[in-house]
Amino acid sequence: MANRYAESNVPMDRRHPSRMTVRQRFYLVEVLAGLRLTGVRFFANMWRHTLHAVGIKAARGAVTIQYPEERRPYSPRLRSLHRLVRREDGSPRCVACMMCETVCPAHCIYIVATEHPNPDIEKVPARFDIDLGKCVFCGYCVEACPEDAIRMDTGILEFASYSRAGMIYTKEMLLALEPAQADGAPTSPVPIPADRKVGEPQPEARRADMGIPRAERGGEPQP
Ligand code: SF4
Ligand code: SF4
Repeated sequence: MANRYAESNVPMDRRHPSRMTVRQRFYLVEVLAGLRLTGVRFFANMWRHTLHAVGIKAARGAVTIQYPEERRPYSPRLRSLHRLVRREDGSPRCVACMMCETVCPAHCIYIVATEHPNPDIEKVPARFDIDLGKCVFCGYCVEACPEDAIRMDTGILEFASYSRAGMIYTKEMLLALEPAQADGAPTSPVPIPADRKVGEPQPEARRADMGIPRAERGGEPQP
């Protein structure tokens, strides 16, 4: 069967026949056509925005989200920065069972267990660090928790840091966070990583601690 493009075109690559016309292959014409289209859209949108600004609300130009001052509503299912849920007295609901640390595929949770002052509660985390530089936001830790003590509903997505050590979030930082609003907007201020705070100790030591075996952290019965 004859190639139906053969009469109107000269393929650039014979394995992938091109449909470009001679005019299209003279790129300057296409560049000018693209600039003309961009200009038409730009001035049409500017005109609509001007009408909208002077009170003609029916005229709406292209919608641009002025991030970070404006935000798109987030889905309620969005997995954002973790937080530790508090009891009524402000202590963590977490009982240091190590389930989340065990299930975490990125091995980025580090817990040190200690005895709870309340005899009805066996343990409480003395330390609970999450290395967000390694976290893959799978949500397994939330699913595995038997106490509903860890959630990923803060709506906070901006937790960049200048160093890997600054991505480690401690128990105190995670306990201070609140759930997001109904539209997904954060209610807590975006936490400032430790390596940006003046006078804060660098958390390098915490990262080094993450290699300590779980049994030495009270997470498993001692022999
Ligand atoms: S979201 Fe996934 S990777 Fe991140 S801490 Fe939880 S279990 Fe680990
Ligand atoms: S699974 Fe829940 S209760 Fe257990 S250590 Fe993790 S956050 Fe705490």
